[in-house]
Amino acid sequence: MRKVLVLNTTYEPLNVCSVRRALVLLLKDKAEVLEESGAALHSERDAFPIPLVIRLTTYVRVPHRNPAARISRRAVFARDRHRCQYCGSARHLTVDHVVPRSKGGADTWDNLVTSCAPCNRKKGDRPLHLAGLRLLRQPQPPGPAAFVLLHVDHVHESWRPYLSFAS
Ligand SMILES: [Zn+2]
Repeated sequence: MRKVLVLNTTYEPLNVCSVRRALVLLLKDKAEVLEESGAALHSERDAFPIPLVIRLTTYVRVPHRNPAARISRRAVFARDRHRCQYCGSARHLTVDHVVPRSKGGADTWDNLVTSCAPCNRKKGDRPLHLAGLRLLRQPQPPGPAAFVLLHVDHVHESWRPYLSFAS
């Protein structure tokens, strides 16, 4: 089932919805089309262009960073764009505790990062500075784009510019 990317008035990614839901929003003037697929959905009398990306016409207030967001391996990978946060590799990914569990490190957004297996091995049970590793960026609760990425199996090419809005 094809999905449509829904953006806030600010162009911030909000969520994904079905084509049908997107068409309802468009017909009610609650959204505008930013990207179309070129294909159409046919009803008895009409043909509706199938949207890929829509933008709401009324601002929806959302908490920007949600620390309560459920943490999972998949969510950590999505937040980190499937890149090792030490070396940038996209291969053999694992989840690493920045402060090792054995040293009291918690399962929190700011202590879990995507790490490739070699970096994870190199780090072992040591704190970062002793392992000679540095974080590419400070981990924090995921932004809206990561949530969108979590809920789809396939990211359409047309979505990418909008998803780089926030990571
Ligand atoms: Zn690495």
